[in-house]
Amino acid sequence: MTVQPWDNKKTNDETRKKLLKDRVLDLTLPPHNLNRIQISHMINRSVSTVHRVQRELVQEGKLQTTETGHLIRAAQPKLLRRFLDISKTDFLSIPSISRWKNSMDRDGVKNVPYIIVNFWKVCQTIDVHPDAFLLDIEEVIPLIEKFKVAFKSGKVVYIKKRQIDDPLKQSQASPEHYIESIRSFIKRNGKEIPEGELKVKRKQNKLYAQIRLNDNERMQGIKHFATFSNDLKTLFIIHNEIGPRSDTLFTMRPKFEKHTRTFEGIKCDWYKAYIYEKKQSQPYEKYILTPNARLIVSKLLPGKQIHHYTNIKKAKDEYNQKLRDFFAIIGKISGDPFEQAKYQKGTQEYYLVNDPTHAIRHSCIHWLMRITGNRTEEVSSLFWEQSDTLKIYARQQFEDMLEDDTCAMCKPDLNDQNYRRFCTLKHAIIYYNTNEEQRVKLREEKKWV
Ligand SMILES: [Zn+2]
Repeated sequence: MTVQPWDNKKTNDETRKKLLKDRVLDLTLPPHNLNRIQISHMINRSVSTVHRVQRELVQEGKLQTTETGHLIRAAQPKLLRRFLDISKTDFLSIPSISRWKNSMDRDGVKNVPYIIVNFWKVCQTIDVHPDAFLLDIEEVIPLIEKFKVAFKSGKVVYIKKRQIDDPLKQSQASPEHYIESIRSFIKRNGKEIPEGELKVKRKQNKLYAQIRLNDNERMQGIKHFATFSNDLKTLFIIHNEIGPRSDTLFTMRPKFEKHTRTFEGIKCDWYKAYIYEKKQSQPYEKYILTPNARLIVSKLLPGKQIHHYTNIKKAKDEYNQKLRDFFAIIGKISGDPFEQAKYQKGTQEYYLVNDPTHAIRHSCIHWLMRITGNRTEEVSSLFWEQSDTLKIYARQQFEDMLEDDTCAMCKPDLNDQNYRRFCTLKHAIIYYNTNEEQRVKLREEKKWV
């Protein structure tokens, strides 16, 4: 290994220190945006040294922090970084690639960097020039098969570590987004794709991927329902927390078990709820995590319904109507019943109007996915026997991908406070048992940021 300039004994101490500090600054900021561990590897120093140098840089005004002490660096998510990396190579200047990109840009195609990065990964993985995909279809198909094999065994370049760690999951994953990028590249270069070849499976129930409330909307909902009655507020809070089907929500007589554990020095509470659902024979275990829901549950009587309605049909109608009103207030649908009746089947709006309780169930699943680091298998065990159903929810939107590596507890994204994600369930539980002051203190102590 070559000697790093700051390790060169021939240079005087002062200069070496300055060289090291400049390098840390460089690696901290865009386009590198490295974390302390990564920087520590790059400069051959301990993480605490990196930390110390960054503090000095803050004092010198070369790095900025937020009020809570987080380093500010222009956000540069992984995907865009990868795209910029590719921009520096010759890839984008290959005529077929630039023709493709221009054509997509012209048509206002969304997520162009994402599509290009995927195609680039395909070419890298099987080591071919992009133009190999513009040959006759007989030549192209073996290439795609080769890629699929590499994909199933987790050998795609720059694939997420999580996926490599789980070969079974990877072997069952779908390479659709890669196939889609190949298809787009071929078609926009003016080549025909014969009927039946390179088919991309229609995304099943893509709609569910969009039906969800963010944290702010959920809080707004609680306030909205609280203005009517304690029963409606309770229904909304519990519904969002555990996502039961409508029948279950109104007829269940859950029992709750309080759990307390200390994580990272913080005493944390949650409840385990035992609930029967009609479609399944055994009781389901659900978890009550958020402060609002814990407070409600602490006041509920075990083995009793969670509301006082005697007419269930009337209760459902009332709750559904209040949900529609709420969706209108937050701008998801029109508040005018005539407009509501006009929504086309298959649209999000139609779904929100016609099946508002099920919409909350979807929203709850989305929430559970994002607070558990998208752990499909575990979340599905709380809802269905088969995890396949949950793949719909795991399909991320572009904006989600950009937030993939954030955790509101240990790696908060100050730009996105409405749709909090957590790296692990444990961090979610700590978050839901602390106030902001405690969190800031904890992050400092644990050197998380
Ligand atoms: Zn975390």
